[in-house]
Amino acid sequence: MGFPEYRPRRLRRDEKLRGLIEETACSTKHLVLPLFVKEMDEKSVPIPSMPGVSQLSVEGLLQEVEEAVRLSIPAILLFGIPATKDETGSGACDKDGIVQRATREIKKRFGHDILVITDVCLCEYTSHGHCGVLKGNEVDNDETLTILAASALSHAEAGVDMVAPSDMMDGRVRAIRERLDGNGFSHIPIMSYAAKYASALYGPFRDAAESAPQFGDRKGYQMDFPNQREALREIELDVAEGADIIMVKPALFYLDILALAKKEFNRPLAAYSVSGEYTMVQCAASAGYVDYKRTVIEMTTSIARAGADIIITYFAKDLARWLSNTTR
Ligand SMILES: [Zn+2]
Repeated sequence: MGFPEYRPRRLRRDEKLRGLIEETACSTKHLVLPLFVKEMDEKSVPIPSMPGVSQLSVEGLLQEVEEAVRLSIPAILLFGIPATKDETGSGACDKDGIVQRATREIKKRFGHDILVITDVCLCEYTSHGHCGVLKGNEVDNDETLTILAASALSHAEAGVDMVAPSDMMDGRVRAIRERLDGNGFSHIPIMSYAAKYASALYGPFRDAAESAPQFGDRKGYQMDFPNQREALREIELDVAEGADIIMVKPALFYLDILALAKKEFNRPLAAYSVSGEYTMVQCAASAGYVDYKRTVIEMTTSIARAGADIIITYFAKDLARWLSNTTR
């Protein structure tokens, strides 16, 4: 049946009518708020390239978490910035490290009111800024696995609800799963950054996490952006190694990858809408070129529409405020 019998516009005449047939509903219960905790005296230090986002002390972090709880945001993704760094990123495994201490404080204060997911990687902890230990100028994959697994275990011992390895080393999901299982943490899920692309959109994050590589780039371990089939192979490997949730990162330039992953894999799917996506919208909105609220909601809905079950976004607090009202 075609025009004039069928007229799609009939169902678009009224907001309630549009609501009835809405195919993708964004909801606060699927949002994760990334936060940066730093070993420092100041309570919070704004990140110039990410308006509205700050590096936080443990005390500042607790205030942010309190707000997240009040807004019914179910989870945070925690990144740590240590006071000192070294060649092997040993701070990542320190049981009194910044992430481990912050996790214990959050759990003591908020218990089950919020899920703490921790980023597992070495780039915030290594003096050279790469995501693993070096052999010459190359990141040594297999050496790095041991440290990543030890780091994940230290997070579990501190009380996290989930670990999220972001390093893109081969075999790290299995290494972490075995280490957790062998130490009584078989109940802790792994959300793997399964298809993580070497992206220009990470620039502002590196200011936030103080993790820019001191030489070279991360193309030797993160994925090359023209590749789609390779993402499916990466995800397949992580699923086989025991990933409970698979992630695609970044989100907006990789909606095709999200849609394919949703179709191909029977696993919950997360999308990380990264710092560059956030900053692009912030800049355009503050210049008055796009409407902030409409752009953020449309962008986030597009990520859900592509197939993401979980959306990790720096807009989580604003989204939670807006989504508690029904109209957009
Ligand atoms: Zn890293």
